[in-house]
Amino acid sequence: MAATLLNDSKGSSSSEESFSHLVEQKVLSLRRNIISERAEQIAEVVYRSVYVILEKVRELEPRFTVSEILKVGSYFEGTKINEIDEFDFLVVIKELSKPGAIHINKEPDVSFKGAIYSGPGLVQIKLQDDDLKIKWGKYVVDDYLTCFQQGSLDYEKRDLFGTFVLESIKKIAKSQHEFKDALYNPETDIEFYGGGLTLPSVSDSEQVILKSAEIKHPNTVLMLEYDGSVISVDLSPAIRYCPVEDCFEAGDCVDERLAATVIDRGSILLVAKRGNAFRITFTETEVEYMRDKIHGVHKLIYMYLKYIKCLYAKMKPGFQPFSSYVLKMFCIHHDINCTIKTKIVSKCLDEVLDLMAEYCENDELPNVFNKRLTYLYISDTESEFRICMLDGLRKIKELAVANPTQANFSKVIADVVEQSSSTVDLLRNRVLKEEDRRFRAEQRQRTANEPATFKGEKSSGRL
Ligand SMILES: [Zn+2]
Repeated sequence: MAATLLNDSKGSSSSEESFSHLVEQKVLSLRRNIISERAEQIAEVVYRSVYVILEKVRELEPRFTVSEILKVGSYFEGTKINEIDEFDFLVVIKELSKPGAIHINKEPDVSFKGAIYSGPGLVQIKLQDDDLKIKWGKYVVDDYLTCFQQGSLDYEKRDLFGTFVLESIKKIAKSQHEFKDALYNPETDIEFYGGGLTLPSVSDSEQVILKSAEIKHPNTVLMLEYDGSVISVDLSPAIRYCPVEDCFEAGDCVDERLAATVIDRGSILLVAKRGNAFRITFTETEVEYMRDKIHGVHKLIYMYLKYIKCLYAKMKPGFQPFSSYVLKMFCIHHDINCTIKTKIVSKCLDEVLDLMAEYCENDELPNVFNKRLTYLYISDTESEFRICMLDGLRKIKELAVANPTQANFSKVIADVVEQSSSTVDLLRNRVLKEEDRRFRAEQRQRTANEPATFKGEKSSGRL
């Protein structure tokens, strides 16, 4: 009797537990290649390769002397799944990160190529010290530091941070007589035919091959090959700034404790965006939060959501229902507000899904560090894909508990993702939405002159 009653409710405790177990086992299997000695070795080798390249950059352009190479991204925050295939680093520019080196102009209206960029997360930078002003003169336009690009807001100009990364690679290549194999375009990218460039960062037994390097301004992406794995490495120049209170209001943060950790850190990082606009980031606090502070159950849910999101994205090349970053924001929001006493994946996931549905309806998701920064500003086309994934996640849970084995769980996931995504035609929707927008704009223009019957006919024809 009791069992029947429990089964009639939202889910029996045993089905809640077995579903939680299924998700835990799934995430563990997705991290099999990540939690390994080999992965640690790859991370170490990649770091040393980056160090070697940045040392060369320092020789070529002392302005870009680096004081820290910060390990960020999902591998270092302990949420990477699937393969060990990408690493992100923030490269802290030493001179500009000294206390008092720069002054910031908060929430500027920044003009870039005719467009205005403005927002609570942006700042402009002025150099304080006279020596620095002279030294960095070519990177300053109208008193403001440009995003590490020479004397012009045209980002195709030379002397970007990335240009020096490419020049450094060229130097290393020349010394190895391998440059003849490279296709080199100083303003865009560098690619090696065939074998690639052997980086002299490690011992003979640990050969790292650089396959290509591409300036994506403001970051630079290197493709490395090590021990049979191809690894993408993202380098973004950054400036460490203090005091943190200059660009952070505790009241803007969604949680007092989180605000306290930002303030305790004592500095934040400014990352180049466009023109002379820099973005305020809380990357270090965020990495630390995801690595050490978030509840294990919520971290697991984040990885499960990322996994399902990737499956949906594979079904519709060029689209994804949510970015990993937005999923992370959902999980941190839930972590801060979770009231479930005995936390288990199943129950917390239900709450996270409710939260996601609520935000999708309102079309906005505040950044946990700054409520005035919101995400989810998206087209209607993508919102349908989001609802599709949310429905899919609920369906997966429902079907998985009927036969809680890993084999069935994998099958249920594959079937649900395939079936539910087949009901969404994003390309068709995009065309329809565009037509609809154009039609409505035309209709607004016509309102004054056209007879009402014509408008009525036209819109009913489109329904
Ligand atoms: Zn929870």
